[in-house]
Amino acid sequence: MATTQLARQCVQQLTPYQSARRIGGHGHIWLNANESPDNIDYPNPEQRLNRYPEFQPPELISAYANYANITPDQVLATRGADEAIDLLIRTYCEPGQDRVVINPPTYGMYAISAQTFGVEVVEQPVDVNFDPDYAALAKIDAKLIFICSPNNPTGNLIDLAKLEVLALAQQDKALIVVDEAYIEFSAQASAISRLSQFDNIVILRTLSKAFALAGARCGFVLGNAAVIQCLSKVIAPYPIPTPVAKLAELVLTRQLASMKQRVEALNQQRLAFKQQLEVLPGVEYLFNATGNFILIRFKQELFSAIAEKGIVLRNFTDKARLERCIRVSIGNPQEMATTLEAIRAFCQATCGEICL
Ligand SMILES: *Cc1c(COP(=O)(O)O)cnc(C)c1O
Repeated sequence: MATTQLARQCVQQLTPYQSARRIGGHGHIWLNANESPDNIDYPNPEQRLNRYPEFQPPELISAYANYANITPDQVLATRGADEAIDLLIRTYCEPGQDRVVINPPTYGMYAISAQTFGVEVVEQPVDVNFDPDYAALAKIDAKLIFICSPNNPTGNLIDLAKLEVLALAQQDKALIVVDEAYIEFSAQASAISRLSQFDNIVILRTLSKAFALAGARCGFVLGNAAVIQCLSKVIAPYPIPTPVAKLAELVLTRQLASMKQRVEALNQQRLAFKQQLEVLPGVEYLFNATGNFILIRFKQELFSAIAEKGIVLRNFTDKARLERCIRVSIGNPQEMATTLEAIRAFCQATCGEICL
């Protein structure tokens, strides 16, 4: 695969750490991994926590592959999508030499991970609609191009036709990393159907958002088998704890329906919240809400006033082009009603002419 040549020289030449689990074996006496022989008592003794987990638990990988309608060799399980971001940078970028591209305002971890690894971050300005500048991205010299869709915090979705053109233009040069952390809330917008046609498209997923398992730390890289193989060389030998693997497998199989119900309820809740905001005079602009959050531009600063009422929102006012913007996650109906009431009360009390 051509993308193998994109990996750092040392990764291409690397023989990955040969853990006991990767080497494997058959038998009834296991003395090869310095494990404790006794399995202590805990709520799920069948999980055998005295033993190391599989490198990539096969049931978990096939559960996600089934869910995403792809093959197991296109899936890598990580400790959250955040680890996936870090892993991509450590696998494909030579510190002090290679570059990654982001389209701000966007998720912060791409830049942080790159910087901690000594990799330059190129900020490609988005257009007036906050969409990526696909023409500029096609020409840029970089190893990784991060596009978040739905974008956190603006909610912008990727244009799949433009993604195809971009992937082609960057073939054998860069990986296009589509971060789909929130894709279950806008499932029709997924780039997953393009995976098989373009070996340099990579998709990030997580169980932290729609699956309500942020505490479990479980995410996935979906990509061409060659990409997954390169990343497998760099990832930790036992990335997924056994209880997490079991839990994740469960939600991806027998509890898929409850995820879909949750997403439907949150999407309805988001729509209702948005409709109520639309008629508030203090609201200047509502961004396209496509995830489990909505970004709102107010006519005046109101973050601290709302915070004083014990409602903790995410303030983006200091970010370029997001003056007076606040991101509100979609909670339960009561939380949304209380938040809306606090916003309304503040606007009524202070807006005056500015809001008319
Ligand atoms: C929350 C989030 C992540 C991180 O997900 P984890 O799986 O919890 O690490 C990655 N990308 C985006 C855009 C996010 O909003």
